[in-house]
Amino acid sequence: MKETLRIITQALQNGRKVLLEPEAKTICMEYNIPVARFKFAKNLEDAVEFAEALGYPVVLKIVSADIIHKSEAGAVMVNIKNKNELQDAYKRVFENVKRYNATAKIDGVLVQEMVPQSTEVIVGSVRDPQFGPTLMFGLGGIFVEILKDVTFKIVPISREDALEMVTAIKAYPLLKGYRNTPPVAIDAIVDILSNTSRLVMDNPQIKELDLNPILVDENNAKTVDARIILE
Ligand code: ADP
Ligand code: MG
Repeated sequence: MKETLRIITQALQNGRKVLLEPEAKTICMEYNIPVARFKFAKNLEDAVEFAEALGYPVVLKIVSADIIHKSEAGAVMVNIKNKNELQDAYKRVFENVKRYNATAKIDGVLVQEMVPQSTEVIVGSVRDPQFGPTLMFGLGGIFVEILKDVTFKIVPISREDALEMVTAIKAYPLLKGYRNTPPVAIDAIVDILSNTSRLVMDNPQIKELDLNPILVDENNAKTVDARIILE
């Protein structure tokens, strides 16, 4: 795919192994992996203009290859409701990042559509030295971090394989709907797993990929954070 190859080639030419979030998301879009709408802003004026175009509430995040775990650096501000809050968030994000890593090179900020609270799932890929690219699926937060409730497959995967990855996690009943929690769009997750399989198969330069989290509700799945690391 043209845009994907261009982004990867350019990063490698610049000696950069970490793709910026807007780059990773542009690649996702080329592979039909749905992402929350976003715009990359170079300054506060652009950020304000973009927020107005996307419509409040928005999310603001730092874009820097030196800040990989953004919330750890205080570099993600969610639920920004108006221009005043955006100006304030913009200032705070820069202050927090400076405090976290004084030498971090900052490229700009990402203004993003605020996706309503829903179920968080994670899709990941790492390249196994023996088996090649693998795919991982799990539920976000404590399910992955503490309970290690994840499934793995070696790519490429079929749609049946993808569905199996989803149904095989212990927390699957939560996705199917539980008491007053409605079921989530399993189909949308299966699509994302299939498309991610294609993405990592097509691009052997990708060493690691993380869609973390993808927010899923009854009808849709939207990736709100994407990270790609190159070989
Ligand atoms: P990082 O993983 O680098 O710390 P994220 O981009 O994943 O940063 O943002 C941290 C958290 O903020 C996410 O796990 C998610 O819960 C929330 N978040 C991020 N972007 C959005 C968004 N567009 N809409 C809703 N929630 C979001
Ligand atoms: Mg994240």
